[in-house]
Amino acid sequence: MILIETIRAMRTAVRNFRTVGQSVGFVPTMGFLHEGHLSLVRASKARADRTVVSIFVNPAQFGPDEDLERYPRDLARDRALLEREGVDVLFHPSREEMYPEGFRTSVEVRGLQDPLCGRSRPGHFAGVATVCLKLFEIVRPDEAYFGQKDAQQAVLVRRMAQDLNLDLEVVVRPTVRETDGLAMSSRNGYLSPEERAAAPVLYRSLERARALYEAGERDAGRIAEAVRGAIGGEPLAAVEYVDVVDPAELLPLERIEGAALVALAVRFGSTRLIDNILIQAKET
Ligand code: AMP
Repeated sequence: MILIETIRAMRTAVRNFRTVGQSVGFVPTMGFLHEGHLSLVRASKARADRTVVSIFVNPAQFGPDEDLERYPRDLARDRALLEREGVDVLFHPSREEMYPEGFRTSVEVRGLQDPLCGRSRPGHFAGVATVCLKLFEIVRPDEAYFGQKDAQQAVLVRRMAQDLNLDLEVVVRPTVRETDGLAMSSRNGYLSPEERAAAPVLYRSLERARALYEAGERDAGRIAEAVRGAIGGEPLAAVEYVDVVDPAELLPLERIEGAALVALAVRFGSTRLIDNILIQAKET
């Protein structure tokens, strides 16, 4: 695996792959890798000739009171993990490389950036869209891999790629969970032992939503209420939102006719966790 820190060297590496007819899969991350990230790496490796992983803690997607400075970082460990997976290139640019003096541009995906996490994180998704577009332009992959864990991000990036005619496929892979159901996240390490023990309530509450749906419930409000109720039983959890929305447009649903995304953000102390599930009628 080669470690690349400059945009120029990254472009050269991909150009060299392309010259010999190799396809390129790309996994953008903020590092502190876990099995969720590695599942994306494996999906890329299974399809593309070459896999590029980026690690960049993107300041543009953090609000002023968020955890940019304390976000966990361990490049040596990440490097070893990616090496073991057989990744070809690790792209690890500096802040200055990505956002030099005078940087002014921002990409917005209107509408999709506003609901769910957008409500409490203004500017977050513009930061995500902007860095993804930059990374896509630098790496020029055939496919870019994202996790369903960050459902709104995946929907928004896919729409940006479509709207701007980007010549790549956005592939979304399932959420990887701990054995107790907690969605893997680089932020799980912020949890105290008590909070960590309480956090699986999120997935249990989402499974409750699925069970209600499978039992015939189609009223989105009642499903959201049941999820809030289940989380409410856990004193360490403070619900930011529980929403049942259309999975493509992220607009609130009253009744579930086709598919629905049940998404939530919940705080445990100062740690904000997100999770979601997609529910839809089983194929018959
Ligand atoms: P991050 O490093 O948190 O920005 O995540 C990088 C990519 O990994 C994003 O596409 C995330 O959606 C994805 N990801 C993070 N956690 C998981 C998980 N538990 N399962 C699947 N994908 C994940």
